[in-house]
Amino acid sequence: MTPEEFKKWGYRYVDWIADYLSHPERHAVLSRVKPGDIRKQLSQAPPEAPESFDSILQDLDRIIVPGLTHWNHPSFLAYFPTTGSEPGILGEMVTAALNVNAMLWRTAPAATELEEHVLNWLRQMIGLSDSFNGMICDTASMSTFHALAAARESVAGISGHSVRDDGICGPGSPVLRIYASEQAHSSVEKSAMALGIGRRGLAKIGTDSEFRMDVDALESAIAADLLKGVRPFAVVATVGTTSTTSIDPVARIAEVCEKYQLWLHVDAAYAGAAAILPEQRHILEGCDRADSFVVNPHKWLLTPMDLSAFYCRRPEMLRRAFSLTPEYLKTAEGDSVNNGMDYTLQLGRRFRALKFWMIVRHYGVEGLRAIIREHIRLARMFVSLVEKDSRFEVVAPSPFSTVCFRLKAGDAENQAMIDRVNATGKTFISHTNLNGKLTARLAIGNSRTSEEHVRAAWTVIAG
Ligand SMILES: *Cc1c(COP(=O)(O)O)cnc(C)c1O
Repeated sequence: MTPEEFKKWGYRYVDWIADYLSHPERHAVLSRVKPGDIRKQLSQAPPEAPESFDSILQDLDRIIVPGLTHWNHPSFLAYFPTTGSEPGILGEMVTAALNVNAMLWRTAPAATELEEHVLNWLRQMIGLSDSFNGMICDTASMSTFHALAAARESVAGISGHSVRDDGICGPGSPVLRIYASEQAHSSVEKSAMALGIGRRGLAKIGTDSEFRMDVDALESAIAADLLKGVRPFAVVATVGTTSTTSIDPVARIAEVCEKYQLWLHVDAAYAGAAAILPEQRHILEGCDRADSFVVNPHKWLLTPMDLSAFYCRRPEMLRRAFSLTPEYLKTAEGDSVNNGMDYTLQLGRRFRALKFWMIVRHYGVEGLRAIIREHIRLARMFVSLVEKDSRFEVVAPSPFSTVCFRLKAGDAENQAMIDRVNATGKTFISHTNLNGKLTARLAIGNSRTSEEHVRAAWTVIAG
């Protein structure tokens, strides 16, 4: 592609993006395609001859866009909406253009330093102490995986056994155990599977009536495991659980972790963003005592997929878990710089910091605060709409922008209601199960979602 052609198609595609983003509600929010519908429309074999960008654009409109569920739709109220934003999209474009690989400081000095810098900005924005070092992962699942790998490595110093060298089945290796509430995200259990701890190596601790970890139950479980000769090593606390956005009592959990010398990881993937609001700072109380912490700017901070901010106070444990430098990657800078590859499983690293830098500069922290504050206001408004209708009940506290509610009638009625709402193509909500009951879940996190969309969603839900 010549520079002239690139400009021509670049402008056309930017026009296309701007047009799409100005009216994402033109499309059904939940795609109506059936499995296999998309592949049926694509050519069986790859094209031998070059094709024009014009025909690619036509197929984008004809096949791909109708085959998507539109996360940009202002009435996408399922899961946790991930909001992209125009400055983030421009950042992604430049990242692709520069195409640097931030595996080592020297392979992308500005990418490495900007990553450290913007994670320091975000740390300040949410009021986390400066004892945390930040690095970018793709998703919270990977951030938690890295946290628990570092935690597993930290056991070595205590038992004299090294996972790094001996593996989990090495001589003297103890049976390891992780603790998290039964409301914790499935990525904790997946990490246990992948790290050789096993699903049975994760103890799921019960919760109180507001879905927060029962700290007494945590301490009893730890004590019982110690008696059995099992080696507890990590606790995952959640600020903003996935189903109800409940907040575990992190400060009390930190006390237990300090008493038993356990690694404390805090998963604040969604709700951590709310701490940029001074009136929400308290949600991270106790988090400064954690060993590691994750928040996802790609959830509620206008960052296009993907960018997870992973903070760790013991980066030397990450290094012990992951650094291994072959001869051809040794550099003269040595320890005077951070080489990203020393702290992660992967070698190659995308330049994700650029888009976040652009986003924070474009909106300013004040602009980001205004958006999150409005989402929380809209969720409270939705709660009051639900509470006024005696057929419905709100099932859990809604401290952020997510509301769990249900028809009092029963599971079948709730399933029918959710199916009916989602079939309209105008609003998309998701579900969870709380206390054994099917529960509808509405989450607000898209910068294009305004009061009219939330009221319209309620009109459809109330039928
Ligand atoms: C969304 C979420 C995750 C998983 O996030 P990914 O970035 O998709 O891996 C983990 N924990 C919590 C609390 C979440 O809300």
